[in-house]
Amino acid sequence: MPERIYNFSPGPATLPYSVLQEAAGDIVNYQNTGIGLIELSHRSKEFMAIAEETEKLIRRLLEVPDNYKVLFLQGGASSQFFMIPMNLLGKGKTATYLNTGTWSKKAIKEARLFGDIKVAYSSEDTTFNRVPRDDEYTVAPESEYLYFVSNNTIYGTQFAQMPKTETMLVADMSSDILSRPVDINKFGIIFAGAQKNMGPAGVTIVLIRDELLDKTPDTVPTMLRYKTHADKGSMFNTPPCFAIYCVGLVMRWLQEQGGVAAMEERNRRKAGLLYDAIDATDFYRGHAEKDSRSLMNISFNLPTPELEAKFITEAADVGFNGLKGHRSIGGCRASIYNAFPEEGVAKLVDFMADFAKKNG
Ligand SMILES: *Cc1c(COP(=O)(O)O)cnc(C)c1O
Repeated sequence: MPERIYNFSPGPATLPYSVLQEAAGDIVNYQNTGIGLIELSHRSKEFMAIAEETEKLIRRLLEVPDNYKVLFLQGGASSQFFMIPMNLLGKGKTATYLNTGTWSKKAIKEARLFGDIKVAYSSEDTTFNRVPRDDEYTVAPESEYLYFVSNNTIYGTQFAQMPKTETMLVADMSSDILSRPVDINKFGIIFAGAQKNMGPAGVTIVLIRDELLDKTPDTVPTMLRYKTHADKGSMFNTPPCFAIYCVGLVMRWLQEQGGVAAMEERNRRKAGLLYDAIDATDFYRGHAEKDSRSLMNISFNLPTPELEAKFITEAADVGFNGLKGHRSIGGCRASIYNAFPEEGVAKLVDFMADFAKKNG
């Protein structure tokens, strides 16, 4: 293995090294077919097998019930911000949204183009440092769905439990899908851009309950209807073949690691190391309130912006990349998705202790 540094990037993010190696070989010559992976027709039996296997693994790992479709779409997670209300709402229809950060805010803006949107909760006035408890908001009873972002990538907050409500849930799980078990039955739609926890950029995974496929208003264009893609097994047009293939490799890796429950345990350990380091001194300050802390993105501050800049520079010098916080909150952020190695977290914790001692 060549020298790899620790990449704390929020996305696209660290992938398992074994996946990168296998993909590198297959790109040039896919399993001795004499054709490179990214030259294969999406209708070839080789690629059809890849897509089928990828879907099967996602279904197994997430325990997706039979009455749900798994779709491989393009346009990024951001396109789901409009596709969901475009397909599920319409004149006179209502949905409730929880505003817990940049990504929910963007989704609310798009949803307003298609229906009556109630924002039942917002933590914006405390820089999105928390997510709500169930008793802090009311879902409008006429809502078609309750929309929330399960993990707020930028602010480092996460719903420890999914909202409890009779209303159908719709969730953006871009940055924590497959990081812990989830009861899919409560959800109408779950979506995730692959580039945080599933693979490279280029594909968005959508899980959708069958009964929703027929709700789309007639005015919605063909490519933007979920049913178009569901009916054709995500092959209505050319799918993002390479990204789907990589997601398949990551799913196989995940299975070898013991699946989603084993991942949750490991993720708790990894995040626990960092939060313990943050709580150990007054030098570091976590951005998120304790009961809203994310296991995927750990956002924290140092005493001054100057020290934060110094921290990020010195960390980069010793091989820790991508620790700069998002421009909307500043500070530092360590993104430690499933594939981020535990020893990298331990080494960052050592570095943090050392830095605090020298600069505190
Ligand atoms: C990154 C991210 C997005 C945006 O994903 P794109 O694929 O770039 O559109 C949306 N939601 C969440 C929670 C994210 O982390």
